Amino acid sequence: MSKNMSLSRITSIVIASVVVSVGALGAQTTVTPPDNKYTPAQDVELGQKAAQEAEQQLPMLRDEEVTSLVTSIGRRLVDSIPQDLRHSEFRYSFQVVNVREINAFALPGGPMFVNRGMIEAARTEGEVAGVMAHEMSHVALRHGTAQATKATKYEIGTLLGAVVGSIIGGNVGSAVAQGTQFGLGTAFLRFSREFERDADLLGSHIMAEAGYNPLEMANMFKTIEQQGGSGGPQWLSDHPNPGDRYAYITREAETLQVRDVARDTRAFSQAQARLGQMARAPTTEEAARSTAGRRGSTPPSDGRPRTSSGDIASPSSSYTSYTEGDLFRVSVPSNWRELPGSEAITFAPDGAYGSTGQRGSSFTHGIEIGVARNEMHDLRTATDELVSTVAGSNPNLSRPSSYDRMTIGGRQGLHTALSNGSNASGQQERIAVFTMLLSDGNLFYALGVAPRDRFSEYEGTFRRVIGSIEIVQ
Ligand SMILES: [Zn+2]
Repeated sequence: MSKNMSLSRITSIVIASVVVSVGALGAQTTVTPPDNKYTPAQDVELGQKAAQEAEQQLPMLRDEEVTSLVTSIGRRLVDSIPQDLRHSEFRYSFQVVNVREINAFALPGGPMFVNRGMIEAARTEGEVAGVMAHEMSHVALRHGTAQATKATKYEIGTLLGAVVGSIIGGNVGSAVAQGTQFGLGTAFLRFSREFERDADLLGSHIMAEAGYNPLEMANMFKTIEQQGGSGGPQWLSDHPNPGDRYAYITREAETLQVRDVARDTRAFSQAQARLGQMARAPTTEEAARSTAGRRGSTPPSDGRPRTSSGDIASPSSSYTSYTEGDLFRVSVPSNWRELPGSEAITFAPDGAYGSTGQRGSSFTHGIEIGVARNEMHDLRTATDELVSTVAGSNPNLSRPSSYDRMTIGGRQGLHTALSNGSNASGQQERIAVFTMLLSDGNLFYALGVAPRDRFSEYEGTFRRVIGSIEIVQ
């Protein structure tokens, strides 16, 4: 089943609390890295893998002049990271993405990607440096894996698996992001307000040390905020404003001494002029479509599940229990993995899930559990709407002729089974649909998926999983 749905999220991400100790008046704020169960080497491993994905999925601008400007800003900032936040394993690298949106992102361990649109929107080199210093601070403070530490129970292997196909969806393109199941974006790149504040503060320290006025960072955030509309302030959705961003950056700047560092002040305007001569950058969505087209001719690398159905292990008869946020508890076969998702949770056996390039992820065996927004509709109507949404990315999905009533989590629910023309591996499949309304009116759903020839084997498993669901709220 392909998933390209926009459903409200079910996991409430636990926000890490960050210790920001303020010293005596006039002293700069001390910024401390949050708790982290991963090692710096694992940051590097995850970031490298994600960077490879990003390079495959995004159009890189390979222009020496522009790249060398960004690299020289980046190097100057790296040299200004406080000693106690340096990790010898980390390798900071800088690339420019040839897309229009005003955005930038940095991956654990150091790879940083700056959109061409960001460089074009900046008024000064210092503004570009501001965004980069902020991103670099997330890396130095290891916010990506710190967030994963707090938000998920996932082991490193699952996180690595989640990296595949997740870059565009998770971070760069909101249009394509709708279909993202694996929430690398949520886990690594979309930060809490506390982390944002810390990245702003550390970023301002790094800027001052590197010879940039920290107020330029605040200026750039204002510029980003003003660029509404399409291709607008994507960056802000990944880096929410902690509230009084300009005020505290300004206060912090007053405690900092901007070092006098010589640099080529013409490099920025030259790079901007050069970008102005190039054909206009595509939007991320346009770029993703053309990448998808190119990838269409290379089947082995499209991220689909590679294992044929017969190789997928049968559901284990022993079950493991999971608690999902503060919403529900469920038990699933012990040989199914819990896959990180920003909008729904999927449990699937090894080999049964993957991503389908730009169009979100898919799985061939297993169950997805989530909550869909529902306003004012009865269970039957809301379930019909859910099926329509699933059909949006599965055009050969059959429509329900009837529903059976069943109890789910102690409430009255509905069940039906649909056939789907073809799953990610090109096989006919069946989808068991289970729904019920939560007390807030939203639709709780589970979608059990298996190839048609193995559905009878899985159907009992789906029912047992559904039978284990306990709604917490
Ligand atoms: Zn941020």
